Amino acid sequence: MSGRTTAARLSPEERVKGFEEIERTLTPVQATIEASRCLMCEDAPCNKGCPAGIDIRSFIRKIRFNNIWGGIRILREANIFSGVCGRVCPTDALCEEQCRSQVLTEPINIGALQRFLTDFEADLGARKRVAAEKLPHKVAIVGSGPAGLAAANELALLGYAVTVFEASSRLGGAMTAAIPSFKLPNSVVEAEIDLISELGVEFKPDTPLNDDLTIDDLFERGYEAVFIAVGLGKPFPLEIEGENLQGVYSAMELLAAAKGLHGSQSTKVGKNVIVIGGGSVAVNAATSALRLGAERATLVCLEAPDEMPAFSEDVELAWREGVEFLTRVRPVRFLHNGKDGVAGVEGVRIDWKEPGEFVPENAVDVEGSMLTLPCDNVIVAIGQGPDDNAIMQFQSLKTNVRGYLLVDEDTLMTSRPGVFAGGDVLHNPISRTVVQAVAYGKHAAHSIHDYLNGTNQ
Ligand SMILES: Cc1cc2nc3c(=O)[nH]c(=O)nc-3n(C[C@H](O)[C@H](O)[C@H](O)COP(=O)(O)OP(=O)(O)OC[C@H]3O[C@@H](n4cnc5c(N)ncnc54)[C@H](O)[C@@H]3O)c2cc1C
Ligand code: SF4
Repeated sequence: MSGRTTAARLSPEERVKGFEEIERTLTPVQATIEASRCLMCEDAPCNKGCPAGIDIRSFIRKIRFNNIWGGIRILREANIFSGVCGRVCPTDALCEEQCRSQVLTEPINIGALQRFLTDFEADLGARKRVAAEKLPHKVAIVGSGPAGLAAANELALLGYAVTVFEASSRLGGAMTAAIPSFKLPNSVVEAEIDLISELGVEFKPDTPLNDDLTIDDLFERGYEAVFIAVGLGKPFPLEIEGENLQGVYSAMELLAAAKGLHGSQSTKVGKNVIVIGGGSVAVNAATSALRLGAERATLVCLEAPDEMPAFSEDVELAWREGVEFLTRVRPVRFLHNGKDGVAGVEGVRIDWKEPGEFVPENAVDVEGSMLTLPCDNVIVAIGQGPDDNAIMQFQSLKTNVRGYLLVDEDTLMTSRPGVFAGGDVLHNPISRTVVQAVAYGKHAAHSIHDYLNGTNQ
């Protein structure tokens, strides 16, 4: 039995020159060969690994028998962001982890096959989708990330009049504001948003939910249900000395600059950049810093390499591109350059008090292990939480102490009837990924449909 077919990739030397997408699309021959490896398992365990509910076995079968449009239809019915997810899904921890083919050789390259179909569709032009007959109900969506947009898509297909209110001038949430273009070009996201727009969804960019536009206002304007999907807009600070020095940025500031986001032009990187954090956002910030001109990017984190929460594929890409990893180190303070700018990071090596608990409270400093790392910039990437402005809007809704929204797990309804929530802003979401946000959006749309039809009030 042959091994897994992978698409061509730019070499590490080529890719750090800019933000060009790293991976190519499988050729039709490659896609057919890869689809032919599928065992067509009766119980399709791969399907159970997809939060968006894609019938993976069936779309692979369509590729195998050259029914490309049939495969595209299966994808679009389950996940409007199939092109995005074919690129950014951590498939090794989802569908491919379940794939039975790995018992014989390697898992089927499900992400690449999914992308093959959506890239084919993008080249030829998508087929028109038809929404159900218009219903006399208006639904407001707050936030245009994958959760909000997946809900908008589903509700529009059901016939609802949907309006999406978005704080930023650009639609797409983290897909267009943060995930680097070398993994996910904006054109891919925009093409999938166009599919939603074609269903008649109304978009209102630059229109945040705030003191001038509250949940009460939305109900007064005739919206009968509201879906809140505002993501996590506030970077956590490290709260150590020197964090306000010039040249210290949050990862979201750096990634916004890398995405050319409006207002991010003042974020400039020097030659030697230190990134603090062990998640995918930190790793993406380090590889983006190299592309923005840094000659050296060092990632400093509490976790050892096998303890880092980052997606393994992101870590491997960064490693190959020359990002240096300084692990099991805790930053203690940022050093200044004699003026207002940052000149370095002072840190200390750590060990864990309790094995297996990789949280800052469980770290103990190793005596006599202080180290000083000179640098031109520090990027802080230790996570994000709900935005304070959002929390103010949520005052009437139940949140946990840190502002994450609490919902009924079955319906995703918040403590206020008619107001639903999903995506990253939830307390304790199943995972913080695009595909999970899509799953929340779909779930909320069907709960809203039931609510407006009186079946879950
Ligand atoms: C750098 C980075 C890399 C990532 N890489 C991956 C990856 O490789 N694979 C993967 O699956 N996931 C990845 N993720 C995670 C994924 O992007 C998120 O889990 C997902 O986007 C969450 O979707 P969401 O709709 O809940 O929120 P978001 O995508 O954050 O969207 C929320 C939207 O709400 C808007 N908003 C906020 N406040 C308001 C308001 N008051 N009024 C109106 N609108 C408002 C925001 O502007 C934003 O557009 C990454 C995230 C980041 C930051
Ligand atoms: S588990 Fe793997 S081999 Fe089996 S149907 Fe799914 S993709 Fe094919």
